[in-house]
Amino acid sequence: MMHVQEAVTDDWLHGAKESVLSTAVRPELIMERGEGMYIWDTGGNKYLDFIGGWAVNCLGHSPKALQQALASQAGTLVHASPAFYNKPMLEFSAQLTEVSGMDRVFFASSGAEANESAIKLARKHGTVCMNGAYEIITLQGSFHGRTLATMSATGKPHWKQLYAPKVDGFRHVPINDLDACFAAVNNNTCAIMVEPVQGEGGVHPLDEAYLYGLRKICDMYGMLLIFDEIQTGMGRTGKLFAYEHSGIMPDILTLGKGIGGGFPLSAMLTLEKHNLFQPGEQGGTYSAQPLAMAAGLAVLQELIEQDLTANAATQGQYVMRRLTELSSNLPIRNIRGQGLLIAFDLPEGLAPVVTELCLDKGLLLNAPSPSTIRLMPPLIVEEAHIDAMLAIATDALMEAASHVG
Ligand SMILES: *Cc1c(COP(=O)(O)O)cnc(C)c1O
Repeated sequence: MMHVQEAVTDDWLHGAKESVLSTAVRPELIMERGEGMYIWDTGGNKYLDFIGGWAVNCLGHSPKALQQALASQAGTLVHASPAFYNKPMLEFSAQLTEVSGMDRVFFASSGAEANESAIKLARKHGTVCMNGAYEIITLQGSFHGRTLATMSATGKPHWKQLYAPKVDGFRHVPINDLDACFAAVNNNTCAIMVEPVQGEGGVHPLDEAYLYGLRKICDMYGMLLIFDEIQTGMGRTGKLFAYEHSGIMPDILTLGKGIGGGFPLSAMLTLEKHNLFQPGEQGGTYSAQPLAMAAGLAVLQELIEQDLTANAATQGQYVMRRLTELSSNLPIRNIRGQGLLIAFDLPEGLAPVVTELCLDKGLLLNAPSPSTIRLMPPLIVEEAHIDAMLAIATDALMEAASHVG
């Protein structure tokens, strides 16, 4: 019989890595504790976190509001079965639809599931309203998740052959090219799905005129416009939802990442006119699960009470200004983004070297490609954190450039 380890030492933990399926290349350290903008590893090393749990920990690490909401809900009702309404589900549904301008919401646990729901709803719309149309136009360089359908929707070139055969019914077109999108529409098209700012693709905002054009194409043919706001939603871009920057409304809005502040939660929202699922056609064991609902409710209330959306806009501008200043002396190019979703380019190959050096210096940064650094800190970030981040990143960049150059 296996015995559970009595004293969990650091050595034992490091040995236990052999029991984890190797799906990611991870550094040797082991994360243990977080508070606000910081996270600590088991060696007691402290890191300033500009990855923010991958744009997830919008309130920072282990925020009090989330701790209290989860503890209180856990002591009341942990799970009730998806066959019943529960109290936090109804409170959160009412608040989320109100702030998003949407009418109806379906909850899931991950972003990919929210997008699966969006794809299903678009296909249902095609069946009911468009003579069986089922194709969805998506963008090159997009990221929509890791289920088979959302991988098929995703526009990553090196995923084309992975896990073949792909789910049928997706057409990829280049971003910000309205003619290309128009040309891809045919009798089978039921929807267009885009991220208002491509996140995993390296932070590429879609032009306002392009988004407006997509809305017009959808209206012309009766197709649905889906905004995947899993990364851009919940205040990240300096508005509660990125669609607010453009002045147009999507038919379907998907949310994930920041919505649970670290608790697994996602949502698909839509308008009353697209309330098309018959009972039993969509669901999930953990859909609208009470703990997740309590977490979502607490996060939304904190975002609003602390006005973190405005902070994302203000601090985002500060980051952009400081990066622009630094770019006169450093090889920083193409500074871009919206709110606290920001990226810049470095000479090819330098980005992973910089993030690794930053890790040694107590800073977490993400390199979505060998030439790109992406910033997605918690929305509670302050100027002092940004100054500290830029000081460390500058050191790392000079060191990296001297190694490579
Ligand atoms: C992260 C992300 C997803 C996938 O979310 P998961 O929770 O990992 O399934 C989908 N779309 C966008 C835009 C994302 O950033």
